[in-house]
Amino acid sequence: MSDAAIPTVPDAVGPLVGWRAWRIQGDGSPEFGPPRLYSIAFPCEWPVRRALDARCLQTHTPHLPEVPVKRCRCGIYAVRSPKHVFGALYHSEYQVLGEVFLWGRTVVGRKGWRAQRAYPKRLCVLEGSVPDSAIEGLRVYGVSVEVMGRDELAAQPATEPEPPSVWQRVMRALFT
Ligand SMILES: [Zn+2]
Repeated sequence: MSDAAIPTVPDAVGPLVGWRAWRIQGDGSPEFGPPRLYSIAFPCEWPVRRALDARCLQTHTPHLPEVPVKRCRCGIYAVRSPKHVFGALYHSEYQVLGEVFLWGRTVVGRKGWRAQRAYPKRLCVLEGSVPDSAIEGLRVYGVSVEVMGRDELAAQPATEPEPPSVWQRVMRALFT
């Protein structure tokens, strides 16, 4: 395990949990490789059992390596309620919603946050949208993978902050 993967409890902001959407790339075939979560806005793969570290990809707002910063738009995005990302599921290539742990530097926004580091907490795959092999493939992330219909997905509750003790236990289980 590299140093970059070791989660540390943030000083100011407690561990957060948000919602976001992903697309799946790869179907387990030799040609396309194993299924992996990808961000929607950027062609960014979410690593397995390693935190995703944010990088600034905005070229018009140069700033120090700290990511995210308030005056930029960088960071890993998540929102409080699945309702804010549910619209993404109407684009057929985005089939997964889920909760993510967020930590490190965090910028608070109106609907959620932009964070320095993230890892999925729980994945909800839209029923009928993804082959079973891809759903099984997502289990390498080591978190719960649930299949549900649109209505059930839309009815998922907004997130609550995770107590630090629970969060640390989950992080240890995932990354060691
Ligand atoms: Zn930036």
